[in-house]
Amino acid sequence: MIPVRCFTCGKVIAESWEEYKRRTGEGEDPATVLDDLKFVRYCCRRMFLAHVELVDTMAPYQ
Ligand SMILES: [Zn+2]
Repeated sequence: MIPVRCFTCGKVIAESWEEYKRRTGEGEDPATVLDDLKFVRYCCRRMFLAHVELVDTMAPYQ
């Protein structure tokens, strides 16, 4: 599960996660999707990018 808010600035990120996951799953560049979703701060972008890596690592065990 992705955290509801960015740990650093408190911006809500959970509601954008499904769109991010869908669009990156369709082959879009994660940086472009984050720009579209208005996540301009590095602290928030890091939440998404770090979470993707975790999901990829965990997927075979789910
Ligand atoms: Zn943030």
